[in-house]
Amino acid sequence: MVSRVIPVDPFDLVIFGGTGDLARRKILPGLYRRMAAGQMPDTARIIGAARGEIDDSGYRQMVRDAIQTFIPKDAIDAKTLDSFLERLGYVQIDAKGDGGWSDLKAKMRSGMVHAFYFSVAPSLFGTLAERLHKFDMAGPDARIVVEKPFGHDLESARALNDSLAAHFDETQIYRIDHYLGKETVQNLMAVRFGNVLFEPLWNGQYVDHIQITVAETVGVGGRGAYYDRSGAMRDMVQNHLMQLLCLIAMEPPSRFDPDAVRDEKLKVIRALTPVEPHHLVRGQYDVSGTEPSYRDDAENPRSRTESFIALKTHIANWRWAGVPFYLRTGKKLRARTSEIAVIFKPTPHSIFGEASSAHRNILSIRLQPNEGIEMFVTIKEPGPGGMRLVDVPLDMSFAEALGPDGEDVPDAYERLIMDVIRGNQTLFMRGDEVEAAWAWTDPIIAGWETRGDVPKTYDAGSNGPEDALMLLHRDNRRWREIRG
Ligand code: NAP
Repeated sequence: MVSRVIPVDPFDLVIFGGTGDLARRKILPGLYRRMAAGQMPDTARIIGAARGEIDDSGYRQMVRDAIQTFIPKDAIDAKTLDSFLERLGYVQIDAKGDGGWSDLKAKMRSGMVHAFYFSVAPSLFGTLAERLHKFDMAGPDARIVVEKPFGHDLESARALNDSLAAHFDETQIYRIDHYLGKETVQNLMAVRFGNVLFEPLWNGQYVDHIQITVAETVGVGGRGAYYDRSGAMRDMVQNHLMQLLCLIAMEPPSRFDPDAVRDEKLKVIRALTPVEPHHLVRGQYDVSGTEPSYRDDAENPRSRTESFIALKTHIANWRWAGVPFYLRTGKKLRARTSEIAVIFKPTPHSIFGEASSAHRNILSIRLQPNEGIEMFVTIKEPGPGGMRLVDVPLDMSFAEALGPDGEDVPDAYERLIMDVIRGNQTLFMRGDEVEAAWAWTDPIIAGWETRGDVPKTYDAGSNGPEDALMLLHRDNRRWREIRG
């Protein structure tokens, strides 16, 4: 299959926090890869900004090191890298001060897209927006990109939204959720809305339940102090799992346009039912061999923050009446995997006897590892022995479907940054979506805080606490296996 990379318009991209971990690990290597793929125009320029006292050549050296660290050697072309580095510059700026802003303004060229990536702590978002306005860089050509976490609760998210809205229109604000940049997530929309096959079955008449799992094998070591103020509910459910749930549950938008899609997602969040305390299980990983416990990692021996959460919720509308949505995410689990599974109901009448009623169609959308979509269908087990049934996947793995070019599929950050330059907000969260998600999350957290809830411990490398298994067993259902 011939790769169809369409170059974006010329741009100046400023990365505030351009020397930080995210910039070095994801943003800059991602930009390099887009250039190598031929998507970045020759006139594109990237400017790093931070407080550190370095000059352009020091910054280029830092970025060279980052690219050589975070991109495999055989995927780096020396000439392309040199030419990428030539596009880089650096400005010393303290977001809280007035120094350096005029230098930055002088570097911005007119007649092209101006994108400002806020890869700094959220406490600096408001002041960056304010300074950009003050130094005359918040005009209609400007776009700002903000990172997670977007707020700690509804009140702080509103305050953040207000601080950005004071200087930028909503159409200029790109709130990143990198889950939305994944190839499979977009394919989920293509599969749902580009085929006639699924829509008639996409409702409570045919769907038994939906499971969304995001399992990690790593603990919180290294960012324990940050994580301990957050927990799995704020760090994962309120944003990533919620976004996945929206895409799977939303009504077909009238067109594939940013506001049409986001309007539908918002309706889903607003229709989510409150979570009953007995429909939610919180967990914390325990010591395992020489591996530290969550409390060790968080350096907080009394921490009640959850590193695991499993919950059941419903969407109160006609399509999803009676269909439970089970969400589960955690650290130090058996395998690293992200999956959305749509489990369909059994056939209404089995002509093959009792045993066949256990067979279900399952649509599995895998985000990692091996991004792809599998549809499990029931067939006859091959060979002699009568009519024995077995469930097998109709597999659609992108690497295979797209041929060798499939390997060049941009990663989430690359795709999202290019979307910013294109001015396409479809895969970015709108302010009202974020607030609605917090409005659902806040009472859940307030509930366990009032009750003094203590998370259940679970073994590292397990499926999470026993109670999480019971959440489904009680409903006569089972979690999908966590497999890498
Ligand atoms: P980091 O490694 O601590 O880097 C922070 C960057 O901000 C540095 O370049 C720092 O450079 C700069 N900075 C700090 N204070 C500043 C100020 N007053 N004015 C101007 N620049 C300032 O943080 P990070 O991990 O890259 O995270 C950046 C943002 O991305 C955060 O909002 C984080 O929550 C989010 N995020 C990060 C990841 C990740 O994997 N790292 C993932 C998702 C979201 P100086 O100290 O030299 O100024």
